[in-house]
Amino acid sequence: MPRYLINASRLNQTLDELGHLGESPDGMDRVAYSPEDIAGREYTIRLMEQAGLETHIDTAGNIIGRRAGSDDTLPAIAMGSHTDTVPKGGKYDGALGVMASIEVVRTLGEQGHQTRHPIEVIDFTNEEGTRFHRWLVGSRSMAGLLEQEDLDAVDDDGHGLGPCLSDIGGDISRLGEAVRQPGELAAYFELHIEQGPNLYQSGTQIGVVTGITGRAVFEVEIEGKANHAGTTPMSIRRDALVSASKLILAIQKMTAEQEICRVSTVGSIRAVPNAVNVIPGNASIGLEFRDTDMEALAAAEQELRRITDQAALDDGVEMEIFRHRFTTAVPVTAEMQALVAEAAENCGMTWESLPSGAGHDAQAIASIAPMAMLFVPSVDGISHSPEEYSTPEDCANGAQVLLELLLLADNRF
Ligand SMILES: [Zn+2]
Repeated sequence: MPRYLINASRLNQTLDELGHLGESPDGMDRVAYSPEDIAGREYTIRLMEQAGLETHIDTAGNIIGRRAGSDDTLPAIAMGSHTDTVPKGGKYDGALGVMASIEVVRTLGEQGHQTRHPIEVIDFTNEEGTRFHRWLVGSRSMAGLLEQEDLDAVDDDGHGLGPCLSDIGGDISRLGEAVRQPGELAAYFELHIEQGPNLYQSGTQIGVVTGITGRAVFEVEIEGKANHAGTTPMSIRRDALVSASKLILAIQKMTAEQEICRVSTVGSIRAVPNAVNVIPGNASIGLEFRDTDMEALAAAEQELRRITDQAALDDGVEMEIFRHRFTTAVPVTAEMQALVAEAAENCGMTWESLPSGAGHDAQAIASIAPMAMLFVPSVDGISHSPEEYSTPEDCANGAQVLLELLLLADNRF
């Protein structure tokens, strides 16, 4: 049995209240730096203060609430996630982690339990990266991983990050002050909805995250020959779109049949001139591979190069591969995974290990602190959608295990 029980109805009420800020018939809209995001942040700050957390906003715009430990010379144990959403998103992605962290602190406060370590609850800004197409902005700022491209990024209307940061209490000219050094945090724990179907399908209560997936993004440009759709015989065509479609099927086969890496997706396609009566002379596809094993990603790239070379030869077209972003996979140490599993067992809950197919703030914070993540089931595996849903019981289970995890870490670290 867990030592202290979180207040499940209070947790779900806060999730619900936050879920009304930026709510529309099409889903949640708390895109970072928007008035709705700011309303969500203000709500979060009020809750943190009610929980007895001393709250400040760092220069990167992250909201940090701190509760003293009995030994304030110890580094803090941090918990958190994000309250921004994608457009037309759901009520649980990010929100659960922040609301649950606050509930954990409220429970400890009510029970009069003071941890040895100071506790921090962090609401990272702009996790989703919708506005500037740059994501994990708050957590990467804290980890010192922000790049010049992040600072130079402009939104679709040409506005820069600086004024947005001021709107939420940050300061782009002093971003360096948001950086935390390795050792400043004893650990970072993030509770999140799975955003996939595994736990829901297996009926398991808690997911112990083994690592956060790496991602390799490519574009393949195919150069054939544009010509008249009525007069050019089939035998002499060099149709770039036909070659692209063969490639799409081969990329799907790489994972679905050959299992070279975990998942592959061709998510965009463009044909030129994109007219029904012209043989497409040029086409391009955008694709990505994801796996927690970087060697699998390297193997996928190698196979992609092999099949494009072969397809170019077979079809008499030219294919060029552009290698875009490569996000490194971030493993969770065996010790940290074991701690999450132990916390789940102490709470009498079933658990299973699984990788995270989505990115999270924890992957940035992993470079400055030992990190662990736990998942709760997403009904039907849906997320980034108004249909995103996790049951009140599952949300409460996650918060309960998060509390237990914090207490275990407080004893051992
Ligand atoms: Zn999230």
